[in-house]
Amino acid sequence: MISVDNSAEKRVFHLIEKENEPNFIKFKNEIIESIKNKNYSNLGTLKDDEYAKQFSVFIFYEKIQIGISKITNSIIKTQLESLDWFKVLVGSFEEIKELIRDNEYILSRRYIVTDFEEYKDIFEDLYEKQLSGNKKLKKQFFNLFENINVCPYCNRNFVNPIYKENSVGGDNKNQSPDIEHFFPKSIYPFLSLSISNLLPSCAFCNKIKSDVDTFRENCLSPYEIKNGDFRFDFTLDLNQVKKVKLISNTNCKNSKILHLESLYNTVHSKYINDIFENDLKYTPKNKDFLDKFKILTEEDYKKVFRNYYKEEDFNKQPLSKMTKDLYNQISNLKSK
Ligand SMILES: [Zn+2]
Repeated sequence: MISVDNSAEKRVFHLIEKENEPNFIKFKNEIIESIKNKNYSNLGTLKDDEYAKQFSVFIFYEKIQIGISKITNSIIKTQLESLDWFKVLVGSFEEIKELIRDNEYILSRRYIVTDFEEYKDIFEDLYEKQLSGNKKLKKQFFNLFENINVCPYCNRNFVNPIYKENSVGGDNKNQSPDIEHFFPKSIYPFLSLSISNLLPSCAFCNKIKSDVDTFRENCLSPYEIKNGDFRFDFTLDLNQVKKVKLISNTNCKNSKILHLESLYNTVHSKYINDIFENDLKYTPKNKDFLDKFKILTEEDYKKVFRNYYKEEDFNKQPLSKMTKDLYNQISNLKSK
């Protein structure tokens, strides 16, 4: 699990029709400022501006109001009407978590016994039509994550979208990674279009995570995960990594749900053992080897480990977190 930026700037995306006009840029900055200051009522006044038609937050807002008006169950409908929808759509991860806490008794699958399906279907449909099936907006959504090459859940698979002018066979010109709902839309339909609930992910993680109730199961979203919330730990032996463990400092269940430990053990321990074999010639008593780590610069690290050194770059290349944790563990050995 790799941390992903959840700042206000990363919660605003839009069509590109007039994006170079100075007034458009000013308008966009006002949206971002309002989000930063949690001034959601100001978004209510901005929604009638001519540029508003280009912004996902206002497009979604309008369609959601129409969706809510179709709901026949009066309890669900009243609760949905009472929500601050700008907060639901562009609030921070912490804010949407609060929204679950405040509304789960009426708006989550666990507690609704009647008419849940109607409510869920309306929001599924909104998500399909307004984002996942809306080519232009979907492309802009993925542009928010242009610095992220690798699935933030597993740090194993690439998630870059492909946009091609022509395609051999069929009309599969554009291919995107999956859009993953951290809190499943099948349990919390009202968060179907909330930006802080959405992340690009590999198909594998999206599938394996599926309908797990991440709110109840104590999982951490890449939007909230912090340095040191978990780390890889290695059982080191002569010339070999025997076992890879994934240790969580917060008792979060991400590794268990995503089967990360077993995946890393069965598939990726080979990769780090190859580094051991080819470059490190590691033995615990090898003084030269341990001394080498005392002088390892960022550039040296890149050469030896063939990966990024800084945490902010971990989303750029697969297995970067595991590789860095291996380095940290070995370099700690030298001081013992
Ligand atoms: Zn993944």
